[in-house]
Amino acid sequence: PGMSAEYLEVQGLTVTFDGFTAVAGVDLTLVQGDLRFLIGPNGAGKTTVIDAITGLVPATGLVAKSGVRLLGRKPHQIARLGVGRTFQTASVFEQLSVLQNLDVAAGAGRPALSLLRRRRGVLPVIEEALDTIGLAAHLERPAGTLSHGQKQWLEIGMLLVQNCDVLLLDEPVAGMSHDERERTGELLRAVGARRTVVVVEHDMDFMRRFATSVTVLAQGRVLSEGTVAQVQADPAVQEVYLGT
Ligand code: ADP
Repeated sequence: PGMSAEYLEVQGLTVTFDGFTAVAGVDLTLVQGDLRFLIGPNGAGKTTVIDAITGLVPATGLVAKSGVRLLGRKPHQIARLGVGRTFQTASVFEQLSVLQNLDVAAGAGRPALSLLRRRRGVLPVIEEALDTIGLAAHLERPAGTLSHGQKQWLEIGMLLVQNCDVLLLDEPVAGMSHDERERTGELLRAVGARRTVVVVEHDMDFMRRFATSVTVLAQGRVLSEGTVAQVQADPAVQEVYLGT
């Protein structure tokens, strides 16, 4: 890893569905070490922003990772450029073990690795990811038998072994127990320290504890941005979250 900060630059991001503008000119600048929470009311466009950055829906504007333009590329190309995402429902291979899931993910980025793995056993990149996500003791377990929280961690591990350094997570703690939320927060801190993590989240308590910065979306636009304290003190945000 070099000294320069990996970053994601989003300018004027716009997504239209049949004449309805779901995302209307969103600007975001994300630096290395950012644990950015993307919040806002239902329908504000949070998931669509992630979908657009990862190539799942067509968009206009500019999205660039360390100067490399992403818009117009396919999702797998964007993942290979180090920008990965999770979904609200974890998409792990249920029949495969934890280790096999990580193997598949590592191989997706670098086909030559599966050969190396057969020769040398567990790859260092996978061992590191296992430590980070706390699943080293569950190597051989079929992913389908993991708890909801553990599946989310495995999915994050799959992004790590693909060398993603921009991670976009859609409601990672939804449906998690209190303990799992705490562990996820610590995990995101560890992962985010040398990377950029964007978290779409409804849990305001979780956001207050772990966000390094916050962007508030409303009706497809950036309503407010800053530290947790700055955003909470913003009258425009209080108006949107009146009563919560
Ligand atoms: P959020 O994640 O903030 O709840 P979304 O990004 O899911 O909001 O949705 C933003 C708006 O775009 C909503 O009004 C939603 O109904 C609309 N929308 C999202 N995806 C589609 C789609 N595939 N086709 C049409 N409208 C969509």
